[in-house]
Amino acid sequence: MGELASAVLGGESRMWIGGQWVEAVSGEFVDVTDPATGEVVGRVPKGGGKDAARAIDAASSAFPGWSRSTGAERAEVLKRWAEAIRKHREEISEILTREQGKPLAESLEEADGAADFVEWYAEEAKRIYGETLPGSRGNQRILVIRQPVGVAALITPWNYPATMVTRKMAAALAAGCTVVLKPASQTPLTAVALLKLLEEAGLPPGAANLVTGEAGAIGREVMADPRVRKVSFTGSTETGKVLIRASADRVKRLSMELGGNAPLIVFPDAELERAVEATLGNKFENAGQMCNGINVLYVHESIVDRFSERLVSSVERLRVGRGTEPGVRMGPLIDERNLRKVESFVEDAVRKGARVLTGGSRLTGESHRSGTFFAPTVIGGVTPAMRLVHEEIFGPVAPVVTFREEGEVMERVNATPYGLAAYVFTRDVGRVFRMAENLEFGMVAVNGTSLSVPQAPFGGIKESGQGREGGRHGMEEFLHLKYISLNL
Ligand code: ADP
Repeated sequence: MGELASAVLGGESRMWIGGQWVEAVSGEFVDVTDPATGEVVGRVPKGGGKDAARAIDAASSAFPGWSRSTGAERAEVLKRWAEAIRKHREEISEILTREQGKPLAESLEEADGAADFVEWYAEEAKRIYGETLPGSRGNQRILVIRQPVGVAALITPWNYPATMVTRKMAAALAAGCTVVLKPASQTPLTAVALLKLLEEAGLPPGAANLVTGEAGAIGREVMADPRVRKVSFTGSTETGKVLIRASADRVKRLSMELGGNAPLIVFPDAELERAVEATLGNKFENAGQMCNGINVLYVHESIVDRFSERLVSSVERLRVGRGTEPGVRMGPLIDERNLRKVESFVEDAVRKGARVLTGGSRLTGESHRSGTFFAPTVIGGVTPAMRLVHEEIFGPVAPVVTFREEGEVMERVNATPYGLAAYVFTRDVGRVFRMAENLEFGMVAVNGTSLSVPQAPFGGIKESGQGREGGRHGMEEFLHLKYISLNL
């Protein structure tokens, strides 16, 4: 094990506040466990409201200096951070897999993706341009400048413990904001490792701070403190709504990346093999725990048998096990709570007449017993009466629904309150545009499922959230406009 991994795994980590690695005011710690084995892999301080307040103090003191640095200066620090993440990719992925469960190959890909976001925003830090507008009188000049909003609180989820941190933090720091990060309680160790590397990259003390521990208390402090001008959250729609309500008193700017209910629609003219491959890659990545993961497969009735047969035979070849074992394609679910939820969706569907085509239950064999493993599952005969059609599954269960007409499927998939991602498989160019333009989702992928790249605006509409992450749009979230009227 390298130095970084051994500093984080197996021991007691600290929070990073004002450039110091500190314990919580409570003096207590919480365990972080490996979902594949139930073993404790590390411990982090049990921070609360007082710790969040200390972190906000530090971020607030660091703001004047960091916000007035040049874009090129901020770019230098971020570039060094990206290089350090790349250099330590193996150790980051080891930490990530131990606390999160996903296969090492996925963790490595995530570590690289995390570095890509940082590198991209390092470049973008130099491009915070303003505008000049024509005045309304001969002696008037109008300038519009962009300025960092202030201290930003970043709250991240457990499904992508590295990229969710860098996608938010690199954009915020590039914009000139200072930040307080609260990672998910299940996966704080990856965040500790990333921030150790950020410290080495030369970030001024207090420009980024890390608080671990009690989410509710930290969230309340962040929302109550007027110095926090922005909250960027990724997580469940339920928690997102709590935070949106709590933000009202201080009128904070928000970015909310919440739950989804992504349809994958396969038309009869689609390349079937491609659609099957894409389903496999997306639906079973991270054991189906992905906000833009496919929730329901809508397959045209004329091809459903062929599609399901191929999907089932591919799914049956997926090896499930500890993410650290070579050749494993799918790890455990994050915890017992999520596993029970997935189980209850399948039970509900079966009770209402669905057929399990493969999988369908928790894995209880010798190598799976001590972890939260669920078999990769395909379900046929699914109807709108079943819960998994309307609710976010967040697990490795692929329900197959049939449809007859383009208009009908459009209406059905748009009926969800969510609107994050939709996937369409067809070779008809007219249909590509009709679908892409009329689907009520923030992102539409055609003949593929890849969406999260540094240069593109990732995000949803309706109850999937507001604001975007990634791209220049992601940096706009941390900037406000100031209009200056000059009268000569
Ligand atoms: P999940 O239910 O999938 O764990 P959550 O939306 O609860 O997702 O969690 C996403 C992130 O939000 C995590 O970092 C979690 O600790 C944090 N969180 C949960 N509840 C609150 C809250 N009331 N205030 C602030 N953050 C919260």
